[in-house]
Amino acid sequence: MTARIRIGISSCLIGQEVRYDGGHKHNEYITQSLGQFFEFVPYCPEVAIGLGVPRPTIRLVKVGHTVRAQGVKDSSLDVTDRLVAYADKVAPRLHSISGYILKKNSPSCGMERVKLYTAKGMPAGTTSGLYAGRLLALHPEMPFEEEGRLMDPVLRENFIERVWIYHRWQQLVSRRLSPKGLVAFHTRHKFIVLAHDEKSYRELGRLVAEAGKGATPELGQRYVRLLMQALKKPATRTRHANVLQHVAGFFKKHLDAEDKIELQDVITNYRRGQVPLVVPITLIRHYLRRYPDAYLADQHYLAPHPDELMLRNQI
Ligand code: SF4
Repeated sequence: MTARIRIGISSCLIGQEVRYDGGHKHNEYITQSLGQFFEFVPYCPEVAIGLGVPRPTIRLVKVGHTVRAQGVKDSSLDVTDRLVAYADKVAPRLHSISGYILKKNSPSCGMERVKLYTAKGMPAGTTSGLYAGRLLALHPEMPFEEEGRLMDPVLRENFIERVWIYHRWQQLVSRRLSPKGLVAFHTRHKFIVLAHDEKSYRELGRLVAEAGKGATPELGQRYVRLLMQALKKPATRTRHANVLQHVAGFFKKHLDAEDKIELQDVITNYRRGQVPLVVPITLIRHYLRRYPDAYLADQHYLAPHPDELMLRNQI
């Protein structure tokens, strides 16, 4: 088995008893299924800044144009600066991890839609948890997701696909980015990007064309930011079907009329929502074994993450 990919995680999600009440929020899917492929690096910002277990609960309060993390019972307990400083301390360590799973609704770890209050305790909208928000701003290219959203098959597949792609990118740049390396990386991810966002696909192509003049770290940074931004947009059934149609074209010289009709039917059934993505992909992989094509075989689109996770059986 290859080395597991390192993923940051809110400590309570892997069963550590670090919540304000001494409990945890163990998520079995994360530890059992994803744990086969990911090595979790846990962080509990509230414990790390010295709040202890058990501890007074905190909430996000709108103060003028700022957001503060204050005690629910005692607003003189203000841990805003400590949470932000802790995120600043953790951020440089995240270069060795390829994604981060956050605890939803937490005033520290929540990625989005965390409740915000007025000083009098009235609802005042929603925002990100203070620690999470800071990390997101400092690592805009890194895949972040909340455990609640991971229960949605489309968002789950999207996050896991992004983790694998980001991990491959980290490996590429760790060996020093060369023009050839960038072109090869881009080429192998073309169909994946196309399934997410056609406009970004074209923009990325233009960026890669600049690599001929030198694949500088700055160009690499622009590339990965744009790539990871594009991949956040979940791939739709229609876009997948268009990519599948394009892939089917690789076999047009090899397939007889009956096989061509079968492949078209499978793609149409997928487009209509009658079968999951794994069905056309399995048939295409079968034809690829029978009629090898080096370019197609290199496309991560056909195997973006381990089959054992069964992510494409649900979308
Ligand atoms: S949500 Fe974050 S701060 Fe709260 S217990 Fe879990 S890891 Fe700690």
